[in-house]
Order: sequence, then structure tokens, then C-alpha cells
Amino acid sequence: MNQTPELNDLNTPISFFKDKVKRFVNKRNWTKYHTPKNLVQAINCEAGELSQLLLFKDYKKEDILGDKILLTNISDEIADVFIYLISLINLLDLDLSQIFKKKMEKNKKKYNITEFNNGMYYKK
Ligand SMILES: [Mg+2]
Repeated sequence: MNQTPELNDLNTPISFFKDKVKRFVNKRNWTKYHTPKNLVQAINCEAGELSQLLLFKDYKKEDILGDKILLTNISDEIADVFIYLISLINLLDLDLSQIFKKKMEKNKKKYNITEFNNGMYYKK
């Protein structure tokens, strides 16, 4: 019997998401709407929907994990942000692993361990 394993973060490469989103968009003929500006604005809209779920609430992690509906709603909005982000990555033909690696190296220098080793946290 040949069973496909359940997708999870340990067995799913980024290329899977890029391909899946690209096919979804192409099959609907939505590429004409996927300009850089539209995709950045869509990311912001979805991030706003995520933010709205927590607006004027002081949920702790345990509150969210204990509320199945809230956790589902938050998960859905995280997925929406991710999907539009993948669309932007596809449009600009970026390699997420490479840009992640480069930016993490920049962040290591910007927030160097000598200066940020005692719990200090501020935007530079
Ligand atoms: Mg949404």
C-alpha cells in the first residue's frame, strides 16, 4: 500500500509551497492581478486581519492554545500572509532560503551578541 505521508514542517520543502501557490494562481488566471504593489498590499491586509483578531485583547499564549476557534482563525490568517508572501517570492523569482540566510547574517551583525546578550530588545 502506497500512502502519502501527512505534510508537516519536517518533510515539506519550500519548493512545495511555491509550486502549489503558483498552480493555484495560474489556474484562476490571477497573475494579471499579482503585481508587486498588489501583493505587498495583500500581505498587509492579511497581516491586518491577523492583528484584528488580537485587537484590544491581552491573550496569553495559553489563552490562544485553549481556544480552538481563535487558534483556527489565527492559523488561517497566518496562512493567508504566508500564501501572499510566497506569491511575491514567486513573482520576483526569489530563493527564500538564500534571502533568509543573507538577512539572518545581517541581523547577527546588527543585533550582535555583545550588545544584545542581556535580554535587551529594541529596534535598531
Ligand atoms: Mg484572511
